[in-house]
Amino acid sequence: MELTGIRYLDDLDVSGRVVFVRVDFNVPLSEGAVADESRIRASLPTIAHLREAGARVVLASHMGRPGGKPDPALSLAPAGSVLAGLLDTEVVLPDDCVGDGVRKVIRDLDDGGVVLLENLRFHEAETRNDPLFASCLAEHASVYVNDAFGTAHRAHASTYGMVRHFGEGRRAAGRLIERELEALGPLLRNPSRPYVGIVGGAKVSDKLKVLQALIHRLDVLLIGGAMAYTFLAARGVHVGASRVEPDRIETARALLKSAESRGVRVLLPEDHVVAASLDAAKGRETGTVEIPGAEMGLDIGPRTIARFREAIAEAATVFWNGPLGVFEREPFARGTFAIAEAVADCGAKTVVGGGDSALALERSGRAGDVTHVSTGGGASLEFLEGRDLPGIAALRAGHRFMD
Ligand code: AMP
Repeated sequence: MELTGIRYLDDLDVSGRVVFVRVDFNVPLSEGAVADESRIRASLPTIAHLREAGARVVLASHMGRPGGKPDPALSLAPAGSVLAGLLDTEVVLPDDCVGDGVRKVIRDLDDGGVVLLENLRFHEAETRNDPLFASCLAEHASVYVNDAFGTAHRAHASTYGMVRHFGEGRRAAGRLIERELEALGPLLRNPSRPYVGIVGGAKVSDKLKVLQALIHRLDVLLIGGAMAYTFLAARGVHVGASRVEPDRIETARALLKSAESRGVRVLLPEDHVVAASLDAAKGRETGTVEIPGAEMGLDIGPRTIARFREAIAEAATVFWNGPLGVFEREPFARGTFAIAEAVADCGAKTVVGGGDSALALERSGRAGDVTHVSTGGGASLEFLEGRDLPGIAALRAGHRFMD
């Protein structure tokens, strides 16, 4: 991912202009209300800057997966009310993101005024990156800002297709994307060493590409969560009824071999918390790496926690993605929370990506003790794979747009 040539908010002249801002207001809802407003708060620095500079701000986002047609349950109206409260100003909420009604609302905006368009994915043309839909969105504004890091890995109409309509000097990354690039960029280029990666979560298959990329950059790789069992199986360890992806054992073996040949230390769990099923009331510590019988590994055990903690304490750079166990359930949450503490305590440059790891940090009250919590799980992984994220590439000077 080439970061030179990307423009930022300070490069733009926005006074009196309509600025289209792609934000990420894909917030969780509970009974029609916003259950966690952190994504909305995260957009405030960009919105505040633009309003102070005299721009007319047109915000756009997706919410959930409405499947290309209007769904009142996935309206952005609840997010709009939260935003209005946070900004202490009126946020106009048209009932669509394109069309005559929307154009009129935007025409009537004053400098500093704010409009939040309705869910972009009420149109299937958004995810299809339809050129006509993209130009309808682009017609709303004379300046384009992308501040939705969470969808920057998607080439959709609002993240990619419409950007071609804004010349250089009229498109830029917002504050949130700027902070993401500042935190994630050095992990690709010159991480301070030792660089320790912690990868957990459900499946090897989901994180295969990032694991393959990380192996070229890390000094130490700690693997936990369900995916660790496929790696243990690849090393010939009996893992009982733990979740193993049989068709990935060979790939896991190849990854371990490739890490070894590069001198990357890979630490796998050496003990576990096991139970008969995911909804068991309590777990049992094995004290051993082998899991006999039909129990399944649902968390890393205390010896593993201690060993992972040691590795993290020695790190100069840490990247963490994915829970180390079934952290949603109290009997199997200890490993994930212990790792969250270790990451927060270690004093290294610490970058955390992925909703579950961020949530664990938040719940331990330690989110403020890491260098950066990425707002984009999938996007941060693709970034670390070294891929060009379309939503960021489009902001670079001289980018050649693909159809
Ligand atoms: P991911 O979205 O890939 O990061 O995976 C997160 C999910 O993995 C969480 O819902 C965890 O409960 C689950 N998980 C973590 N460890 C285990 C495990 N040992 N067995 C089953 N599920 C797990």
